Amino acid sequence: MDLYEYQARDLFEQHGVPVLRGRVAESPDRAREIAQEFGGTAVVKAQVKTGGRGKAGGVKIAKSPDEAAVAAEQILGLDIKGHVVRRVMVAEGADIAEEYYFSLLLDRAERTYLAMCSREGGMDIEQLAEERPEALAKVCVDPLVGIDDDKAGEILEAAGFGVHDAVRIAPVLKSLWAVYRDEDATLVEVNPLVKTGDGRILALDGKISLDENAAFRHPEREALADVEADDPLETRAKEKGLNYVKLDGQVGVIGNGAGLVMSTLDVVAAAGEDLPGSPRPANFLDIGGGASAKVMADGLDVILSDAQVKSVFVNVFGGITACNEVANGVVAALTELGERASKPLVVRLDGNSVEVGRAILAEYDHPLVTVVETMDAAARKAAELAAESTYEN
Ligand code: GDP
Ligand code: MN
Repeated sequence: MDLYEYQARDLFEQHGVPVLRGRVAESPDRAREIAQEFGGTAVVKAQVKTGGRGKAGGVKIAKSPDEAAVAAEQILGLDIKGHVVRRVMVAEGADIAEEYYFSLLLDRAERTYLAMCSREGGMDIEQLAEERPEALAKVCVDPLVGIDDDKAGEILEAAGFGVHDAVRIAPVLKSLWAVYRDEDATLVEVNPLVKTGDGRILALDGKISLDENAAFRHPEREALADVEADDPLETRAKEKGLNYVKLDGQVGVIGNGAGLVMSTLDVVAAAGEDLPGSPRPANFLDIGGGASAKVMADGLDVILSDAQVKSVFVNVFGGITACNEVANGVVAALTELGERASKPLVVRLDGNSVEVGRAILAEYDHPLVTVVETMDAAARKAAELAAESTYEN
């Protein structure tokens, strides 16, 4: 889960990383009030989960509360790389003497934590890494030791800082390590980390990604969840505990096991390729092993709420969950959904107790359900039904 800059700023503050005051506004009037309260120069910054806001006109310096209101007016509603700005952060302005770069991340390839640091911050770091890699220091960080005085010194020396600067910056790196460790982050990035005219070190722009697998250790995190930026169907699926990802096609997909569902997406896409409108998968949904009728009903409910869906492909390989249970799940789901089950369903069952499962569906004899024996044929049927339905409308 990626955080907004203002949320990163708050976490920095909680862990002792030096930051300037900053608060969120959703209107120009509110931006004026905050700037008034802070006094002096303010910076108005778009809150979107993408970089390069500065270049896109999403960061403006305001010399008075009225200028802050004008800046907020200009920034709110901006589209930055497909992200519409709904909020700005009004922050105290800094007198920047130098801009640096620092980040801590999980380096999967090297199986370690990695600190990256440069005396040339503020700009696009990817560009710097490409054009002048020697200006970006990369230092491994042992998870069990983290960033202590020695490690901070090593990182800052590698980046080319003199002792005078290093002494001031080291405590900030240690605090940023505390953020990384205590918040279970996979990325903590500060760009720019600045030195002010009077020699203070400040984190001026922060980016944090949190490890969702550690969410259970952080009950307070629910408040950070970004419900409005998420897809509404995904939000609903999450509430029901479903492993669902919205895609942009017309064939709803339900399967058990991530591998099977992934290959089902490929088979559906291939099956639809030469059909009118080339129907494609509408979603990923893995109902897992041991899927109950309830999970099937919840899954179908979410998929059928997707207005783009024209047909649904249920692809289950009975392993731990026998096919008769899956068939009962489909029956229970359709019965529970009643009128809401309004789109054709193609069901392919195989594996444990497949004959019993198919017999259950044959007996139920629902007008919208077609049972097809093989995965390829079933994918083709589901794609055809989607194409026909699109064609009719
Ligand atoms: P980004 O473009 O999304 O990375 O947004 P940043 O928050 O990093 O801001 C971009 C640039 O705006 C920074 O590198 C600074 O040069 C400038 N900037 C941001 N805040 C201030 C400030 O308080 N004072 C001054 N003078 N410049 C700022
Ligand atoms: Mn930045």
